[in-house]
Amino acid sequence: MDIAAYAQTAVDLVNARLGSDDDLRAYLAPRSWLTERVRAGDLAEIQEFRARLGEMADASAAGDGPAAVASLNELLVKHPIRPVISGHDESSWHLHVHDKTGSVVETVCAEACFGLAMLVAEHGPTRIGRCAATDCDNAFIDTSVNRSRRFCSTRCSTRMNVAALRRRKQAAKLAAGQTD
Ligand SMILES: [Zn+2]
Ligand SMILES: [Zn+2]
Repeated sequence: MDIAAYAQTAVDLVNARLGSDDDLRAYLAPRSWLTERVRAGDLAEIQEFRARLGEMADASAAGDGPAAVASLNELLVKHPIRPVISGHDESSWHLHVHDKTGSVVETVCAEACFGLAMLVAEHGPTRIGRCAATDCDNAFIDTSVNRSRRFCSTRCSTRMNVAALRRRKQAAKLAAGQTD
């Protein structure tokens, strides 16, 4: 995986609902070699890490760069990387944050931290947002020029646009009724 893509796995982890080992396996599903190695106790550790990541995302979404950096730096110390060059098919050498002896927890946490570190270094510490839609607080990465992204998905933005349109129509009807 591209190192930049690890930031997205971090955000996906913040948004993941991890109630059971099967949920954890579903989150890891694109990478079968990790799925097979989920052990008892991994879920609790990943949940704890997910809570810390959520705090970092909150600081970022609130525009508090120094707090976001401080919490990410803490996580980077706790979850060191052990970089290794890997090539799944020997034609595309790329960087992994752990070799395949790394545990699920070591690998998932280090990937997320390193991905976010790259994101912060390239785009600044306030590029993670929280969805502004009702009943959704999903995190997302906002690399738009003026940091204008508000929703986690087109599903949420469509939902909110439809609601806003309905409110405007109702207000217009009300106003028309009053002038009659
Ligand atoms: Zn790879
Ligand atoms: Zn959303």
